[in-house]
Amino acid sequence: MDNKTLMQYFEWYLPSDGLLWRKVATQAEELSKVGITDVWLPPAYKGASGAKSVGYDVYDLYDLGEFDQKGSIRTKYGTKEEYLEAVRALHNSGVRVMADTVLNQMMGADETEKVEAIDTASYDREQEISNLHEIEAWTKFTFPGRNGKYSDRIWTAENFSGTDLDQATGSKSVYLFRGKKWNDETDSENVNFDYLMGVDLDFDNPDTCQALIDWGKWYFETVQPDALRLDAVKHISFESYREWLKLIRKETGRDFFAVGEYWSGELDKLLHYISVVVDGQPSRIPEKKADPEDGVGQENSDSSNQEEADTESAAGNAQAEQTQSGSSENEHHKDEQSQEAATPEKDYSADAEISKEALKIASVGSSAEDAHPAGKNVKGTQIALFDVPLHFAFLNAATSNGTYDMRNMFDGTLVKARPECAVTFIDNHDTQPGQALESYIPEWFKPIAYSLILLRDTGTPCVFYGDYYGLEHNNESPILDLKKLIAIRRYYAYGSQTDYFDDSSIVGFTRSGDTAHKDSGLAVLATCGSEGMKYMQIGPKFAGQQFFDVLGRHDDPITLDENGGAQFHVHAGYVSVWLPENAYHFIRTTF
Ligand code: CA
Repeated sequence: MDNKTLMQYFEWYLPSDGLLWRKVATQAEELSKVGITDVWLPPAYKGASGAKSVGYDVYDLYDLGEFDQKGSIRTKYGTKEEYLEAVRALHNSGVRVMADTVLNQMMGADETEKVEAIDTASYDREQEISNLHEIEAWTKFTFPGRNGKYSDRIWTAENFSGTDLDQATGSKSVYLFRGKKWNDETDSENVNFDYLMGVDLDFDNPDTCQALIDWGKWYFETVQPDALRLDAVKHISFESYREWLKLIRKETGRDFFAVGEYWSGELDKLLHYISVVVDGQPSRIPEKKADPEDGVGQENSDSSNQEEADTESAAGNAQAEQTQSGSSENEHHKDEQSQEAATPEKDYSADAEISKEALKIASVGSSAEDAHPAGKNVKGTQIALFDVPLHFAFLNAATSNGTYDMRNMFDGTLVKARPECAVTFIDNHDTQPGQALESYIPEWFKPIAYSLILLRDTGTPCVFYGDYYGLEHNNESPILDLKKLIAIRRYYAYGSQTDYFDDSSIVGFTRSGDTAHKDSGLAVLATCGSEGMKYMQIGPKFAGQQFFDVLGRHDDPITLDENGGAQFHVHAGYVSVWLPENAYHFIRTTF
């Protein structure tokens, strides 16, 4: 089987010219040839900021650039017809399509409603800090521009748990609507991180769940995607999303690939999410009070703070043109008090039970499958997560002035702990310069980082659009040698792997090649410090053969000894990748 490589086909600051769907269609053939097997396309539906929306300020899930809503027919990326044509072009080139799925929040409602609500503390969402009082909330979505086509459902306050703006007074808070509770289980930051921005979808309401099931079926029929990227999963009831996934897989008859965005540098949180969603382990809620580890981790609070800020950025355009608010949480008080205040003893509302039950009954023969032993993947519930801890390891290595201990690169990462559930990546639309999750990996380190995700035998790597094409807005060039590295993965990174992570500065690995891929097998040596050498063996079958530095930093080939090994050299702050002669020539002349 050939290696799988994802590509995120957008960055934050793409021009709002409506041309992305057409671009990806024209590029499909080349992407396929380079070795991209799956393309992650941005959210395709109309956002509150219309033709400027990156896609996370969801207004109408059924408007894929078809209706005159929010100031335009097309989205930032083009029209519905162009979107469907892009999907067809990718499919015709043998590339799978991963659709970005944003089900946590909506924004840009058509009307306000008078709703009774309670203010909850921004640092402890379970703590009520006011009496019930009336607010005017942007909760009524009637989609007049679509006029009932595909779905005549109207969304009202009943479908949501809360919001952050009282239009009547202009006040901002984390408002929880009367009769509602924040969904269980979500991320434990702020005690319960259900609420993120806009109006928050209430997964305890069966009508909301039904709406998302109906939409999922429609979307698959209409677009025919092959995989889903699930936005903001830490803000959505873990169990409800699990049931939704199973149900959509059953309805479509496809056990499609799904990767969730759980933005946390804490491996434990990612593993817990996987244990609930994939393995069907009980959620942690009942034990929360007794678990001191379940509060706000010091390390994580930084990145999570950033995410909060990021959501404001996501909503920025929307706020400029709409009265609908984005996120209002500027202040976070992650002191000891907030952890101690974690008292999530609560009653499940009748609605919540009905909703979860309904999703369960509807999903794939759940009882038998749920009886699967722990640790085994349950059919229909497979989900991968982005390996955020690895991203931060790369950042640490790249900003250490050469002092990072390269031996520890994979410690605490998802790709080491649960490789089958890890989507490895270097950067994305949130980490790029100017975005509030900004944690951009410096350019010099990227060839090293990409070698470490593309050429190894674990994890599913995801290449960032901005690294492939450059970031025009940020004045960043395409990453040197990236295309070559993707192609090397596609054609030659096969066979058993031998690691040489035995030095604090210079680390490497080899792949022995396999019979299914002609001329496969390679050696990789990388350093974030000074130049140096390391003896590595590729395999006895290569004894006496010459290997060449495909990235072109060494003119002379190296001849392997009788054990198929050699002293390989790497230049300071770089990576060298060594291939057999035929492979070397193919890559050098083709990419
Ligand atoms: Ca939520």
